[in-house]
Amino acid sequence: MPIEFSFTPDQEAFRDAVRAFLAKEVAPIVAEMDEKEEFPHASVAKMQAEGYFGVPIPEEYGGLGLGKVGYSIFLEELGKVDASHGTIVGAHTSLGTTPLLYYGTEEQKRRWLVPAAKGEKLLAFSLTEPGSGSDSGAVHTVAERSGDRWIVTGNKIYVSNGREADTIVLMAGNDVKLGPNGGVTAFLLDTNLPGFKVGRCEKKMGLHGTSTAELILDHVELGPERVLGEVGKGFHVAMTALDVGRISLGAASLGGMQAATQQALEFSKNRTQFGLPISEYEAIQFKLADMAMKIHALKFMVYHAAAHQDRLGNDPKKWTRLERAEKTREAATVKCLASEWADEVIDEALQIHGGLGYIRGTPIERAYRDARISEIFEGTNEIQRLVVSRDVIARGL
Ligand SMILES: Cc1cc2nc3c(=O)[nH]c(=O)nc-3n(C[C@H](O)[C@H](O)[C@H](O)COP(=O)(O)OP(=O)(O)OC[C@H]3O[C@@H](n4cnc5c(N)ncnc54)[C@H](O)[C@@H]3O)c2cc1C
Repeated sequence: MPIEFSFTPDQEAFRDAVRAFLAKEVAPIVAEMDEKEEFPHASVAKMQAEGYFGVPIPEEYGGLGLGKVGYSIFLEELGKVDASHGTIVGAHTSLGTTPLLYYGTEEQKRRWLVPAAKGEKLLAFSLTEPGSGSDSGAVHTVAERSGDRWIVTGNKIYVSNGREADTIVLMAGNDVKLGPNGGVTAFLLDTNLPGFKVGRCEKKMGLHGTSTAELILDHVELGPERVLGEVGKGFHVAMTALDVGRISLGAASLGGMQAATQQALEFSKNRTQFGLPISEYEAIQFKLADMAMKIHALKFMVYHAAAHQDRLGNDPKKWTRLERAEKTREAATVKCLASEWADEVIDEALQIHGGLGYIRGTPIERAYRDARISEIFEGTNEIQRLVVSRDVIARGL
């Protein structure tokens, strides 16, 4: 695998444009959004209008055509500004548009992917259920055949964008006894269909700008055109989307770590105690060194993984077993280390701020609350270690 990596002038220009846009349109509203715990409809609409909900999607399907590297640049910059917006984009793009791009028929791409990538429709991804979290193949939501149609009944939980989405990539059991090996199918469920209802929306520690919704499905009737990929192969669809989600979570974490470190650095130069700026004390200097080292390492890991996925392309049928295994291990590695390093770095940044870091409404206090979920969603870090260790044992280092 090639290790060297550099950004093209176009990618650098994209980063500059994103940074300017976010400083103008997103940064100013984040504190109020967090305090009011409201979905940021206005800034999301502006991001959609810029094409930022379809960054990695090819232009022929309405996206910006910037691949996973461009998408990681976008999420790194967004991660510096706000994790809620990052989660809204991630749920839509990594988990919503990826399965459509990889597994959709041409007709499905035209009907669902193009408007989603153009920012005209919002997507969500629904795998988790009350009894099925880490054991995500054990779905209890039933998709029963009725002629060539499907009747879907069950309860889903913790769906990011679940309250706002127009369409949900939903995993349901075509044969719950079979579980992940042939028993789960991915469906495209429009939220205006009869029998669909949004239930409870969770109050959360962080990510106050996102909805985390329960979905109630009471005999929702779906036609055959809404089956995404093959019947019984939905678990593969979900896992492939999560491989993209895990590197994009890494990119957003990288941004969050940089913002927190920058804030801590500036604070440490300006805060005087015992007659000196606290940045003069070795205890603070070594914290900053450890933070900078983690950022440096993660940057390479994220962009290496993104470039690797770009090289593999968008057709899962063309990937060899080895390529799949390498991609999945790399995505799990990035997700696990990124989320743990983000928690460590943001925790140290908060510590450098002293009491001020604990005061409600400071950016570092919000970042601390927002970051913790990344060790849990898109597969807990215990599950990432399971994925990596199984592959290490099977294939070696
Ligand atoms: C804010 C938020 C947003 C979310 N967004 C989405 C979304 O958009 N779509 C979606 O489908 N889901 C979403 N989720 C769900 C999320 O992915 C799950 O919460 C997560 O996968 C863990 O499942 P669980 O909560 O049921 O925990 P459990 O699976 O019950 O795990 C509990 C603990 O046991 C550990 N554990 C479980 N099995 C093992 C094992 N075999 N070995 C070792 N340890 C194990 C776990 O690591 C964890 O520490 C979201 C959750 C939250 C909180």
